[in-house]
Amino acid sequence: MRRFLIAVLLLLMTGAQAQNEPIVRIGLNQNAATVTIRSANAFSVQQHRTRSAKVTAVLTLGTGAAAATLKKSDLQYRMVVELDGGVVLALSPGTKVRAAAPGAPLTIENRTYRGAIEVFGNSRNTLTVVNELPVEEYLLGVVPNELSPTTFGQIEALKAQAVAARTYVQRNLGQSKNEGYDICATDACQVYLGAGTEDPAASRAVIATRGVVATFDGKPIEALYTSTCGGRTENAENIFDQKIPYLVSTSCEYTHPEALAFSTSRSFPDWRKAVLTVAGVSTFGDAQRFMGLQVTGEPPSDPAALPAFIRRTFYPSVITTSDESFLTEQGILSPTGAIATEDLLFRLVDRKGAFEWQQGILVSWDGKAMTLLVNGRPKTFALGGDAPIYQRIGDERLPMRQGSWIGGELMDFRAESDTIRMLVYRINFANPAADRFSRLALWQVHKTRQELDAAFGGFNLGELTDMRVVERGPSGRLVTTEIAGSNGRRTVRALRLRTLLGLRDSLFSFDIERNARGAILGMTVYGRGWGHGVGMCQVGAYGMAMDGATYEEILKKYYKGIELRKLY
Ligand SMILES: [Zn+2]
Repeated sequence: MRRFLIAVLLLLMTGAQAQNEPIVRIGLNQNAATVTIRSANAFSVQQHRTRSAKVTAVLTLGTGAAAATLKKSDLQYRMVVELDGGVVLALSPGTKVRAAAPGAPLTIENRTYRGAIEVFGNSRNTLTVVNELPVEEYLLGVVPNELSPTTFGQIEALKAQAVAARTYVQRNLGQSKNEGYDICATDACQVYLGAGTEDPAASRAVIATRGVVATFDGKPIEALYTSTCGGRTENAENIFDQKIPYLVSTSCEYTHPEALAFSTSRSFPDWRKAVLTVAGVSTFGDAQRFMGLQVTGEPPSDPAALPAFIRRTFYPSVITTSDESFLTEQGILSPTGAIATEDLLFRLVDRKGAFEWQQGILVSWDGKAMTLLVNGRPKTFALGGDAPIYQRIGDERLPMRQGSWIGGELMDFRAESDTIRMLVYRINFANPAADRFSRLALWQVHKTRQELDAAFGGFNLGELTDMRVVERGPSGRLVTTEIAGSNGRRTVRALRLRTLLGLRDSLFSFDIERNARGAILGMTVYGRGWGHGVGMCQVGAYGMAMDGATYEEILKKYYKGIELRKLY
């Protein structure tokens, strides 16, 4: 009997949690002056059948406005709707225009939408546009925009994204109720671009996970996600000042990737020597040839004639008052005296960009061919057997006869017809991270003094003197940073600092450049990741899926202690 009772109770409990698929209202626009709705099938506006409706908010005079002097209350906004066949409706304030065309999507400004569209006036005297539809249909227009199925086409990652997006909307239903909808359509909520952006793989992921949400203590979680965590996600309280039990730092790793060996037959202790050797430059004549300039041979033996020779040969179109000071400014000649010929040749090749360095992220390497993400697109190269290879650490470049890569290394290279002739790579600090394939797993930016002044000027600290890390989170993100100036100092939290400096993520280290007097000239920022760094790492989800993880494993990796539950 008792066992029976428990069974009944369990049934009742499960029954209480079951629900029907919710209808969701998405705020497409909160400030439209005019909106045109079109459809291939007819829809109704106030009992009029039409295939297009142009809604405009207009200022009108109320009925009591016969006198020349008006009261403010005589002015009213109302909606005017132009339908097919020249029919114009003037609607009383507070009326909603609702369009639904069964069997055909509705179009607004070149975007198509499932479900119904509502347009109504708001307190700002503009129009609010709302798309109302079942939540699963809404998700079809979210998932491909939040995780590109073209770049990151792994079905388990797309399923994890579908569950995260479903959980997010489930938790935030009614968030903007006062505005007449549930959530917005931009990345302030989650990006929804309608039916026109649907993709077959993303749709399969939504359908396969229908009704499934991530829960903690029986409630849908705050399913935050970040594009690329840079190796480790961050605790919620370090970024958003609120501790959330399932949004805790985790390494972005599933299985440790296999290291793939490389070797080369040539190495030079000095990387500049390698550049010149690969370029085939040992004389000025070689340098002229390499740069496609007129070959005039070697400089005169008189050292005093050298600046004029270099300027004429390598900068033929530049007019100078002093060749020597021009070349010193260009970093070719040194203000402190003579430079060795080899150094001079290197500077010419380097400063003129003649070596044509390219940059990419290593995706795969099988011992012969390597695929690199170059400008975000995969490109395959052969690696020359004698290509000098260097590992870059800070400003140093270590010659490597052999070593190994795991993918995700940032590589500077010279290629000649798809064969790499020289390579300088940075070790992948986010070592085995599942998001190592992101082109933003590693990044570097330079900030000038002017940019730093603009970023911190609002603090009124006087002349900027220093920036110092006070606290880093477990992922390495700068949780608290101190900005110091001649008039004082203050601390800044992660998100604020990221916004002020315009950085992709708050996971970075930096070098401050100073002049001889110690004044700040600029700052180089070496960063990892893209986003706030909390919750599911989207590119990491892709990497985990590539390594064989299921969507449930992916979600449980980034949201600690959650349960998946099917709501309908
Ligand atoms: Zn990650």
